[in-house]
Amino acid sequence: MTQKTIARTVGFKLGERNVFFHILTACNLSCSHCYINPPQHGTATLSKELIFRWLQLFARKDQPSNLILLGGEPTMHPDLPAIIRAAKSMNYTVTVDSNGYLFHDLLNRITPQELDYLSFSLDGPDPSVNDPIRGEGVFEICTGNMRRAVEKKFNTSAIYTVSSRNIEHLHKMPALLSDIGIKRFFIQVIGLRGKPAERIPGQESNWQVTPEQWLDIVPGIAQSAAEKGLHVIFPKVYLDPGEVFECAGNVAENYFIFPNGRVYRCPLCEDYPIHSLCIEDDQLQKTEGLNEDRFFPLSIPEGCVMNKLLQPENIEYQGDGTPKHRISCCLLKQEVDGKNNIAK
Ligand code: SF4
Ligand code: SF4
Repeated sequence: MTQKTIARTVGFKLGERNVFFHILTACNLSCSHCYINPPQHGTATLSKELIFRWLQLFARKDQPSNLILLGGEPTMHPDLPAIIRAAKSMNYTVTVDSNGYLFHDLLNRITPQELDYLSFSLDGPDPSVNDPIRGEGVFEICTGNMRRAVEKKFNTSAIYTVSSRNIEHLHKMPALLSDIGIKRFFIQVIGLRGKPAERIPGQESNWQVTPEQWLDIVPGIAQSAAEKGLHVIFPKVYLDPGEVFECAGNVAENYFIFPNGRVYRCPLCEDYPIHSLCIEDDQLQKTEGLNEDRFFPLSIPEGCVMNKLLQPENIEYQGDGTPKHRISCCLLKQEVDGKNNIAK
């Protein structure tokens, strides 16, 4: 039976501020699709004192900001609980994105009241799908810690990065996550950054999914996850005819901070030294030269300019040379909330 999908597009909200802070790039895993790029992002583990000072640069006393603490694996930072508490005192809503290992006894060193969301990355509904991507034994550890976090009443999310290697298994995720008691489900699309961008010249990446696969599979599964009570968020990717294209670089406040002090406004640019901001001597400064922000105002029929420049293989054309689909900003999301928005 065909399901009616009633996901709504979440437009960029004026004044919303999202701070994605990579506090280190070290990780215990070496996922085959890892987007961390140490030559571009640095290898330092930032001290908690430095992190507090950098957090102050983006905090607003009169307005909450969303902070997503990332790595590498952020729970490898021994001071993560102190960082979370400091961020809360600066009016941040705090999320930790973990690969599931939860080092340094995180669940016993922080309370669910102190941490707004704990997210787990999982790329398959069982070890046979997840572990070839994320590593031997990772599924068991990650889902075991998800269950412990749920038992302890943390607000939990799961992040599934859809690629050609796992899209056919996505349909099993809603039942698994619902059984574990996860509340939010983020479905992401693989980006050609980091390892997936490394390929032999002349050969296509074998990670990507086609527009048909994405549109045929993902919205329907998001709907079925919502029907199980999950709050599902997934990227728009392809704009419908008549939908307005907006570049988050022009209309939203998103900051992607790396340990070497680079600050990007667009995640697609992270493999290149074209960051528009940087932190030097604890001050946020604009960078000189041809940077990402020069591309944000450009208008092209394909939609996102950086996608056209960096991932042209994502775009298919019709016989008359017009693009089959316009590519949305990679930060534009759709959501279906199981509590309020059940399809009939
Ligand atoms: S857990 Fe994240 S940072 Fe670590 S290897 Fe995997 S994708 Fe990279
Ligand atoms: S992904 Fe494209 S549309 Fe979004 S911020 Fe980057 S350049 Fe702009």
